Amino acid sequence: MVIAIDGPAGAGKSSVAKALADRLGFTYLDSGAMYRCVALASLEAGVDPDDPIGTSGVASRIAIDLEGPEVRLDGRDVSSEIRTADVTEAASRVSVHPEVRAAMVDRQRVLIAAGRYVAEGRDIGTVVSPDSPLKVFLTASPEIRAERRAAEEGIDPAEVLERISERDERDSSREHGTLIVAGDAVEIDTSNLDLDAVVEQIAVLAGQRGLG
Ligand code: C5P
Repeated sequence: MVIAIDGPAGAGKSSVAKALADRLGFTYLDSGAMYRCVALASLEAGVDPDDPIGTSGVASRIAIDLEGPEVRLDGRDVSSEIRTADVTEAASRVSVHPEVRAAMVDRQRVLIAAGRYVAEGRDIGTVVSPDSPLKVFLTASPEIRAERRAAEEGIDPAEVLERISERDERDSSREHGTLIVAGDAVEIDTSNLDLDAVVEQIAVLAGQRGLG
């Protein structure tokens, strides 16, 4: 069973999903980390992130372990490596390919079938788990999202704004796993809310639906 937290980059999904999972005693699932592992493994194998056949081969053969505190790719701790700018860009590209998505969605479904999860991503409520009992779509203005990322990474907000706009565009225009709001999702604009306020709102919704 899964509580789905979807939305664009920088809307606050990771912090919110982690805090909510802690509060409810659920397991946190970072689906973006899976696409980042495919991206890193592709770059390391010399596979072009835009190559659907090469990247889907990588996606089907790598071992990804998200159960512990680290992200492990074929047993190796890649928690920091998957957050570099090159891997971030490549992850946005590999995730366009339907074969790569199908392989990741399968893995995500296996995980969430076996426990109680708060999962964050782009397509959790629409594709991975359309039956999710609680779907949240987090948004924030592009400028706020860029400011948050820039503060985290210590770089120029204008540069981040350009990059996240490109990634959003790719997520929103691809044919599979498109970034769209599920019809039954609750939309929360986090632009003027702090983390605790967002988590509180979702925890109340979870309580009303008998979750947690
Ligand atoms: O969420 P995060 O920024 O770590 O995701 C990395 C990339 O993986 C995103 O740019 C997005 O394109 C892709 N992604 C996806 N579907 C998901 C999660 C992430 O396509 N469920």
